Amino acid sequence: MQTISHWIGGKPVEGVSGNFGPVFNPATGAQEKQVAFASVEEVDAAVAAAKEAFATWGTSSLAKRTSVLFRYRELVAAHREELARLITAEHGKVHSDALGEVARGLEIIELACGIPEKLKGELSTQVSTRVDVAAIRQSLGVVAGITPFNFPAMVPMWMFPLAVACGNTFVLKPSEKVPGAALKLAELAAEAGFPDGVLNVVNGDKVAVDRILEHPDIAAVSFVGSTPIAKYIHTTGTANGKRVQALGGAKNHMLVLPDADLDLAADSAINAAYGSAGERCMAISVVVAVGETADPLIEKIKARAAALRIGPGDDPASEMGPLITKVHRDKVASYVQGAAAQGAHVVVDGTGFTVEGFEGGHWLGVSLLDNVTPEMDAYRDEIFGPVLSVVRVATYDEAIALMNASPWGNGTAIFTRDGGAARRFQLEVEAGMVGVNVPIPVPVGYHSFGGWKDSLFGDHHIYGNDGVHFYTRGKVVTTRWPDPSDGGINLGFPSNH
Ligand code: NAD
Repeated sequence: MQTISHWIGGKPVEGVSGNFGPVFNPATGAQEKQVAFASVEEVDAAVAAAKEAFATWGTSSLAKRTSVLFRYRELVAAHREELARLITAEHGKVHSDALGEVARGLEIIELACGIPEKLKGELSTQVSTRVDVAAIRQSLGVVAGITPFNFPAMVPMWMFPLAVACGNTFVLKPSEKVPGAALKLAELAAEAGFPDGVLNVVNGDKVAVDRILEHPDIAAVSFVGSTPIAKYIHTTGTANGKRVQALGGAKNHMLVLPDADLDLAADSAINAAYGSAGERCMAISVVVAVGETADPLIEKIKARAAALRIGPGDDPASEMGPLITKVHRDKVASYVQGAAAQGAHVVVDGTGFTVEGFEGGHWLGVSLLDNVTPEMDAYRDEIFGPVLSVVRVATYDEAIALMNASPWGNGTAIFTRDGGAARRFQLEVEAGMVGVNVPIPVPVGYHSFGGWKDSLFGDHHIYGNDGVHFYTRGKVVTTRWPDPSDGGINLGFPSNH
């Protein structure tokens, strides 16, 4: 069985802790690989490599950094098929979806290639007589990233390309369920010319995470994952003096007004609820249908759901793959059964689904629940699977009150033809990312990604300008080059004359 190692100081390093975790192929249910779990000492070795690399990388020229990043961009693009196949093999998502994930990660490498523009700083001349002020941004040192299972390549790429472009060095702890893509990204980084130690990967579980959170040489931590862990990472990391951005879970609502194009809304609901088997933090999990919209919309979603092709991710005919683990599959199924018991109407029940010839896979069909109410578990919890709930409301005001009462505030969408209603919604809704007739409004790389409320802990969204700010700290330099006549004693507070 293949063993996935760590990547420290520019090369693969075998795990020595003796602890390993299983890596499954979700389409077959078979364990195909194992991944080494790092001990405290192994995390320390990665941090030491990153610290050593920072001594030169931190002061390297922008020209040097960008030439490496441009090469990296080309290499990742050239290996996109291989990366996508790795993602599908460990995560299960279909190949086209995996390719899309790599493409969205490439966007951030492209942003990083333009880092000189972002680090230009600001200059004010003659703020006082012969006095100039420059505001510059400098790197932090060693920074770390901890990433979830659902985007094995994209979420790591939300972090390290920008961090290293800003002059930091990086320690990545990918999800132990899908470690392969991160290792491949590190290998390509070395090939592109990242100096040894600039990007390190340590695999592992809570032991590795906790060491990252307490390590005195780590200045900042980026985290993406579930809300309880995000909260823990933020609390612990900041208590240890680190800068932390911790992106959490979600329960994304899609509001459909009576004047919406219902075919577009139904297509969007299907794509956003069931794409990647619902295992996306920007998945739509609740449709809020206003007035008479619910019945025709549900009919249209139901018809489309019946036509979906579910199967192995490497089969080009498949539109949706399996779930990540058996345990997760069973948990998702329990919400469908629980919703029925709590009074929801199960319009489509995907719980008995399997794929012929792949009976061991973590399969679930898609489910559609109607008459869901805010008290039901299916509404209250992040299910993170192919389950779409419909909540019926009478008015826009009722809808916005429902949505804003949610503890999460990641993404949301409105479907309407009414520009005034859409404008009101974008100002009133309490979420970090809003789509107008766009169901999964993941911002492009040069804007920033982040939710509100329990979907993000910290002050910075990820990538875009917020990402540059997170990975740098500001310094303001006040300079005077005096004339011989400028001397003299003055104990007053300096004023601008
Ligand atoms: P998770 O929180 O279980 O794991 C994320 C990371 O934290 C992994 O690297 C894992 O090893 C580590 N971890 C898990 N338990 C830990 C513990 N007790 N102590 C320390 N570290 C621990 O999340 P997941 O199941 O891998 O990913 C799915 C979740 O991520 C969903 O909630 C989803 O909404 C969220 N997510 C959010 C975003 C976003 O941008 N907001 C993006 C993708 C995924």
